[in-house]
Amino acid sequence: MDIITYNIEGTMYVNLTNRCSNACTFCERTRVSNIGGYDLWLEKEPTAIDIISDLKSKDMDGINALVFCGWGEPTYRLDVIIEVATFARSIGLATRVNTNGQGSLIAGRDISHDLATCIDSVSISLNYNNAYDYQRVCISEYGERAFYELIDFATRCHNNNIDVTLSVVDIIGEEQVNDCRKIADSIGVSFRVRPEIK
Ligand code: SF4
Repeated sequence: MDIITYNIEGTMYVNLTNRCSNACTFCERTRVSNIGGYDLWLEKEPTAIDIISDLKSKDMDGINALVFCGWGEPTYRLDVIIEVATFARSIGLATRVNTNGQGSLIAGRDISHDLATCIDSVSISLNYNNAYDYQRVCISEYGERAFYELIDFATRCHNNNIDVTLSVVDIIGEEQVNDCRKIADSIGVSFRVRPEIK
């Protein structure tokens, strides 16, 4: 049976899709079979009704945030994000999307305004300080353009009062990390260095 919501350390996550516009060489789903004991490959993408019903059936005691983050890129399911995040806010949860930052490319339009109606924060994987390395390792179907678009997406979300964090994984080395921090600083958003999941 598909796992469409899952609880890790007091945060409830929503697993929306297997689809992704990247094929990152470091992608966790190519290296590990589960996250926190949850096998997140979906047989079928859940509807907003499926997810809201699932959340209503769960013990939400102690849960204060709902995060859209699974095996794929959640912004492929923008309509579902909006419906579920609106419900989450109505029951007092903070809302976050963990994303590769290519949602506007995927939708073919700027989605930052849509997200601003129901999402408190976005965490965007920056991964590298330049488009060439980003594309070399993340292999976006949009090519090097994806790197520039993700920075534009971060900027637009920030301008729409969404709390934005750009993140990198620590394996890229100190020099890259510092350059990436400068990119985050230059657009006025937060920055986080994540440990590699082994
Ligand atoms: S963006 Fe995330 S889900 Fe997509 S391939 Fe890269 S690491 Fe995997």
